[in-house]
Amino acid sequence: MNLHFHTKCVHGNNDERITDNTGAVSYPIYQTATFAHPSVGNSTGYDYTRSQNPTREQLEKIIASLENGHDAIAFSSGMAAVNALMELFVPGDHILASDDLYGGTIRLFDHINKKNGLDIQYIDTSDLTNIVANIKATTKAVFVETPTNPMMNVSDLQEIARITEKHNLLFIVDNTFLSPYFQNPISLGADVVLHSGTKFLGGHNDTIAGLLVLAEEALAQKIRFIVKTTGAGLSPFDSWLILRGIKTLPLRMEAQQKSALTIAEWLKNQSRVKSVYYIGLPSHPGYEINKKQARGSGSMISFHVDTEQTAVNLLNKVKLIRYAESLGGVESLITYPMLQTHADIPEEIREAKGINHNLLRLSVGIEHIDDLIKDLEQAFND
Ligand SMILES: *Cc1c(COP(=O)(O)O)cnc(C)c1O
Repeated sequence: MNLHFHTKCVHGNNDERITDNTGAVSYPIYQTATFAHPSVGNSTGYDYTRSQNPTREQLEKIIASLENGHDAIAFSSGMAAVNALMELFVPGDHILASDDLYGGTIRLFDHINKKNGLDIQYIDTSDLTNIVANIKATTKAVFVETPTNPMMNVSDLQEIARITEKHNLLFIVDNTFLSPYFQNPISLGADVVLHSGTKFLGGHNDTIAGLLVLAEEALAQKIRFIVKTTGAGLSPFDSWLILRGIKTLPLRMEAQQKSALTIAEWLKNQSRVKSVYYIGLPSHPGYEINKKQARGSGSMISFHVDTEQTAVNLLNKVKLIRYAESLGGVESLITYPMLQTHADIPEEIREAKGINHNLLRLSVGIEHIDDLIKDLEQAFND
């Protein structure tokens, strides 16, 4: 049966429903480290949870299906997923990456992967000529976030896929900000999709998880070998929490997006707000490209206020909206990228991108829109 996205979020592909005789509607948590073999030379298909566990496998099947991928692999965090992916490369390999990535990804690249000999170069991937101009003999991959965190730059995935295909490069897309509900990079030509499952997929600010979705079997086998060997697979219980989160993904994404648009428009009219970066606003430079490749704009907004004092006041005064790292959950969160997610990035580089004392990032949750606006209103006023 060819099920709709909403239905797959609740039931998976249905044909993959497990054959247990209890009739459990919620997929069971297989809280076991190991699996007994029926006889010598025979396996139930499961041997040891580091390699695979039925609950994790169920999550992986659903994500693969939602992203139109061949396979998916669940990790103990988004960073564990990126780290495993980087094991595909050897010293000397050159990787082109968006110059406005999640801060933790930059920290991994700069402090771990570079030490291990990878040659990682940051470029503005929203400019295609930049990508072509920087490809060299050792280039192996292009790593893109769209929209980027926190500046919301949009890169054209189909056009980049044309370039990576021509030059035989691995095309990796961090799809955390839009989730599979709004954007499917594999359908646009990506080879690997990355998710921090902690964010929209889990959706409740209660679980850390990561996912890699692979377009092809050969790549999936390589990653499976890496996760089995290095041991960063997601636990059965956390797999179950993400499975439960995904059931309401479409409803949450719609509600959060609707409120985000209202808040972005409201922010634009505040005298203390200097610029608003939300890809759902037609004035955003990436609006048209995003519209072409995605089905929505999500619920992440960054904005510059007039002074550092305004930013600090706002963070100290919000009540309903919590001042916390992370995003994508039902609770609205406000972040100070300069001090939190992007604190490890050298100041000159950070400032040049606009990640300064006046920049704030808002993840809009599912609270009533009037309460959110009221909270922002009181926080802006002295
Ligand atoms: C949070 C995040 C990550 C890292 O994921 P964790 O689950 O926190 O390890 C990677 N990319 C993006 C875009 C993120 O927002």
